[in-house]
Amino acid sequence: VEVKRLGDRLRILVTNDDGIEAKGLRTLVRALSEEATVLVAAPDQERSATSHAITMRQPLRAVKREVPGAECAYAVSGTPADCVKLAVDKLYSGRLDLVVSGINHGANLGTDVLYSGTVSAALEGVILGLPAIAFSLVNPTADGFEACANLAAGLVINVQRRGWPADTLLNINFPGVPSPKGLQVTTLGQQRYINAVQEREDPWGGTYYWLAGELCVDENEEPTDVWAVNHGFVSLTPVHFDLTDYRVLKTIADWRLELPGGERE
Ligand code: MN
Repeated sequence: VEVKRLGDRLRILVTNDDGIEAKGLRTLVRALSEEATVLVAAPDQERSATSHAITMRQPLRAVKREVPGAECAYAVSGTPADCVKLAVDKLYSGRLDLVVSGINHGANLGTDVLYSGTVSAALEGVILGLPAIAFSLVNPTADGFEACANLAAGLVINVQRRGWPADTLLNINFPGVPSPKGLQVTTLGQQRYINAVQEREDPWGGTYYWLAGELCVDENEEPTDVWAVNHGFVSLTPVHFDLTDYRVLKTIADWRLELPGGERE
């Protein structure tokens, strides 16, 4: 069997939401650089849970940084989506084949992908017409990142051989276990939290809040991503930015709703 390496022709943009210094990004860059040319554009500070936000009322700066394994790297003073827009449009214009986001420090499963900067950065790549893949690690540790970065690079090669599906983000979560049982293709599950808002008092008697919360008892069943990761599998969920609910589209169209007062004779 001929083992085809990706070679220099594949040019990968690596980004994340944990910032350019993050261990997850750095280990991923080093692993990918064995197989392809890696270009980095990542936030200059942690931007987790910024979802798909972009910066419109202040300027963005991109400052060159040393990231071992990367041919070039910029720290960007914006959000993950800003980084991808800037990279595709200016920093590496016309020289990118793939967007890789991560490895995130923590899970991006189920309904939580709506808050995720990691997933949104990859989705921005899809919106701009590039194939994209996002990686996240449950219960991140230094050893865990090393192992996952090698698995991630291998998965990129395997998908590259099959051909990237058009208009889709592949959202991958690694379980926080030393040896995953395998890979499962999954749907997005449900993540529910209790005590999501904690109320406290500042030194002057004022009330303030922390958004935190603990995950509820997991009621997900196969084949959700939450179930897969909780049972020691790597999960792969294809994700699209089209949030239209096709299940009810026809039912609602059949209502033939009129604007109030707008009934025509
Ligand atoms: Mn993060």
